[in-house]
Amino acid sequence: MSTSTARAGHNVGAEYDVEAVQRDFPILSRRVYDRPLVYLDNGASAQKPRVVIDGMRDMLEGEYANVHRGVHYLSQRATDRYEAVRGKVARFLNAESEEEIVFARGATEAINLVAASWGRRFLEAGDEVVLSVMEHHANIVPWQLLRAEKGIVLKVAPIDAEGNFLLDRFVDLLGPRTRLVSLAHVSNVLGSVLPVAEIVRVAHARGIPVLLDGCQGATHMPVDVRALGCDFYVFSGHKLYGPTGIGVLYGRAERLAAMPPYQGGGDMIASVSFEETTFKQPPHRFEAGTPAIVETVGLGAAIDYVQGIGLAAIERHERRLLAYAHERLAGIPGIQLVGQAREKSAICSFVVEGVHAHDVGTILDRAGVAVRVGHHCAEPLHSHLGLAATVRASFALYNCRADVDALANGLIAVKEMFG
Ligand code: PMP
Repeated sequence: MSTSTARAGHNVGAEYDVEAVQRDFPILSRRVYDRPLVYLDNGASAQKPRVVIDGMRDMLEGEYANVHRGVHYLSQRATDRYEAVRGKVARFLNAESEEEIVFARGATEAINLVAASWGRRFLEAGDEVVLSVMEHHANIVPWQLLRAEKGIVLKVAPIDAEGNFLLDRFVDLLGPRTRLVSLAHVSNVLGSVLPVAEIVRVAHARGIPVLLDGCQGATHMPVDVRALGCDFYVFSGHKLYGPTGIGVLYGRAERLAAMPPYQGGGDMIASVSFEETTFKQPPHRFEAGTPAIVETVGLGAAIDYVQGIGLAAIERHERRLLAYAHERLAGIPGIQLVGQAREKSAICSFVVEGVHAHDVGTILDRAGVAVRVGHHCAEPLHSHLGLAATVRASFALYNCRADVDALANGLIAVKEMFG
């Protein structure tokens, strides 16, 4: 595989050789505005290592055909490669079987799938779904659509001023009508890591299933769905160094088995007649139409890549970087960190006193530093915080202390510019 693991250990005290890892990502050697690119928008989407790009090109050049349908050689090869990724994802999440892995377009589609299939089948007017104030729109709007359709009730779990999830207050929201808890594993704005094992434990003690939005989770730390015991876990391939257009819904076998199809078409049926159609078993029941074949293979390559380095090592590396970012930013007057939860992952959001987030983002951009500005698809959280917008630096396995220094220097320049 990559040069990264072969050279791991070159940096004394480092988890792995970050410079070698950077060389695995072709885009990281490019310049923007004639400056080295410092990419800190990984929460939105991560860059791709060469193994992912090459894996997808190899498939397109040598082994491409539609899957599940053909008797011919290429179709069978493509099917094998596509289905092999299902097993890879199952092992990545420690699912019990690959039948528990449904491919979707992304986390958004995966949550919509659960809302449209499980939600429509099992929820009735007055039933409650518990979210948190930190949710991404992808874990709010599908439930609002269901509320408009069925009259369900949404309850919102609070956080404290630092961004810690308030477990006791959450437990108070669980009642006789609570039918689902649907929460981020990690907040995409505050970086707060929710106490998900404890959340699952208290919800299950009341017979309530739990969906975890792992978009910012599976990318930054090892995830074991069996140890967590969650009922559903979703993530997007493109944040895990894979391509866009592919994401994952993990669903416990008994949950998926009870769910009706939510889209109809080719590939998800057992037999079709004009009178009656029967459906395949999960996961194929939920994958109507030609899937994202090449993208799925790309996701498989991305999983191999991160596992070659190790999620635990990636987590330790990113946490150190985050601590360094906190330290550097705390030393710049007028920077206010947004989110300082006790358990925090690779995301550092902040505001600069007296300067609009968009101006900060534009000035940093001219220095070659790519950050996110705005509400990051978490408008209710920003309303709760009383902030129109924040600046978000989000780290990935290839970021290093020099990237944090470039961010800090850019912010010092912002402060100087705005006096
Ligand atoms: N949930 C969280 C926590 C996210 O960070 C994101 C992406 N920003 C999503 C859901 C949506 O992911 P996608 O757009 O890839 O479907």
